[in-house]
Amino acid sequence: MTQSLQGTDRTAARATPELALLLDVDGPIASPVTRDVKPDIIADLVALASAGIPVIFNTGRSDAFISEQVMEPMIAAGMPADTVIHAICEKGAVWFSYTAEGPGPIHVDHQLAVPKAYGDDIRRLVAEDYSAHMFFDETKRAMVSVEQHVDVASEDYLAEQKLFDADALEIMGRHGLNAAILDHHAPGSDDTADYRLDPTIISTDIESVCLGKDLGASRAVELLAAQGITPLAWRTVGDSRTDYAMADWLHHNDHDVKHVDVRPADGVPVKPYTILTAADLDLADDVIHDDAGGAFLRSWREALSI
Ligand SMILES: [Mg+2]
Repeated sequence: MTQSLQGTDRTAARATPELALLLDVDGPIASPVTRDVKPDIIADLVALASAGIPVIFNTGRSDAFISEQVMEPMIAAGMPADTVIHAICEKGAVWFSYTAEGPGPIHVDHQLAVPKAYGDDIRRLVAEDYSAHMFFDETKRAMVSVEQHVDVASEDYLAEQKLFDADALEIMGRHGLNAAILDHHAPGSDDTADYRLDPTIISTDIESVCLGKDLGASRAVELLAAQGITPLAWRTVGDSRTDYAMADWLHHNDHDVKHVDVRPADGVPVKPYTILTAADLDLADDVIHDDAGGAFLRSWREALSI
């Protein structure tokens, strides 16, 4: 009797977890310097997920990157057999789920892909003019992404990136495609275009304007609903202005959400939900990126006694 009650309680707790985590990867989880994930962060992700806290990645990265940098280390760290992790990649265009057994099927929304001929021209442009600073990400299925080499200094990359972005935009025009460069400080300014260039601190993503962290958030809610899971509250975590779209979407759709900004130097916008930074954990201003992301994961473990 007691045992079956405990079983029922556990099932109920799994259906309505106290928190669900929706995590940008580059920045809060993976170091933007080394591009990999610290073992402590992997351990905390496994502990939270094992305790029934949904852990969902919402990234511009490819499924191949998530498999290598997050899935394989989590499985190696001893993820239990009944734990399911969802990964929404390429800003909502690609998604898959994994367990200790490995990845399930990879889903791709091909309608959201950049035309292949354009991608081919960008691959050629990078090879001919920009290969000293950046490389073409061959693992993307819907977006076109060009990323900084890890051994190139950030300021050198950022200067070269401006030239690349201008060339990439011009090639859009040659293909008869309508595109705009996303202004870091004015998301939504590209409303009339079909495609956008989104320059980040380590890459430029070229993508359909239908992609975004808000699309990823809606897919996250759907993936949990399909498992019968309705979280009581969400925590979204990111390092870019565009990551706020996760919390915007959840808040707009009546979910309880707080957003963690691990790189608040861009300025913290006014939002109708709570925004947390490392200062809320009594950490110094220079605790950013995965140091801040890791500190929040640890704080949630502690708060939930996991
Ligand atoms: Mg990021």
